[in-house]
Amino acid sequence: MRIARFVAGGGISWGVVEGPTEAGANPPFESLTVAAIKDHPMGPIEFTGDRFALTDVRLLAPILPSKVIAVGRNYAAHAAELGNDVPERPLIFLKPSTSVIGTQDVVRLPPDSDQVEHEAELALVIGRVAKDVPRERALDVVFGYTCANDVTARDQQRADVQFTRAKGYDSFCPIGPWIETSFDPSAVRVRCLVNDRTTQDGNTRDMIFDVPTIVSFMSHVMTLVPGDVILTGTPEGVGRIVDGDTVTVAIDGIGELVNPVRAKG
Ligand code: MN
Repeated sequence: MRIARFVAGGGISWGVVEGPTEAGANPPFESLTVAAIKDHPMGPIEFTGDRFALTDVRLLAPILPSKVIAVGRNYAAHAAELGNDVPERPLIFLKPSTSVIGTQDVVRLPPDSDQVEHEAELALVIGRVAKDVPRERALDVVFGYTCANDVTARDQQRADVQFTRAKGYDSFCPIGPWIETSFDPSAVRVRCLVNDRTTQDGNTRDMIFDVPTIVSFMSHVMTLVPGDVILTGTPEGVGRIVDGDTVTVAIDGIGELVNPVRAKG
C-alpha cells in the first residue's frame, strides 16, 4: 500500500495511492489516483470516499518525523570515493526534523557552501515505539519505506568535526513521494538522476549493515517512535547539485522523489 500526504481542496489529508502495480516498476504518475482516508495511516484505514487524480493534488512529505536518523558510509564503494574506511559499526547521525521536505519542494542551496551534494538513499518510517529491538524482530517496527535525499554540504562536512551543519539545513532532507508499506528492502535498486543524467545506480544488497541491523542498532541507542525516519546510507556516485538542477531519487517498487534545486535568496 502506498500512503501519501497531500493537499486538496484547501485541506491536508492522508491517502492511499491507487493505480497499476507491477513488481519492480514505478508506474507513471498520470495513471495514479489517491483515495483520502479519515485518520492517521498507522491506525485502521477508513476511506472518506474522496478520490483525486494525483496530478490534481500537491503531495507533501509523507510523514513529519520527530527525528531523522541516518547512517554514514554504509556502502563500501561510497566510503572509498570519499577516502574513508568502512566503519566497524553503523556510523549514525541526526538530521533535524526541520530539514524535511516533500517531492517537488525546493532544495535551497545555502550561500556559505560551494559544494552541496546529493545522496540517494532508501529511507524507512518507524511504525511502533521501539527500544532495544533484537535484529530478528527489527522489521516488525517498520511501517514502510520511501525515497530520501541526504543532501550534504560536503565542504562543511569536511571542515567540521561532526555533521550537524553540513546535513542540517532547511530542505536538506527530501523524502517521498509516498510510503510503500509492502516492500522488501534487501535487494532493491537505488538511483539518482541530476537533470536526466544518472549519477548513482546502486543496490541495497551492497549495504554493509542491512536494514534490520541498522534499526536494531539505533534502537539500542535511542527510543524510536512512530514517524521517525531512518536513512540507510548512499551508494557511490554522489556529486554536486547547483542552482537550476532537478534531482531525482528513484527506487524500484517505491517511486520517484523529484526536487528542484535553487540558490537561496
Ligand atoms: Mn547519507
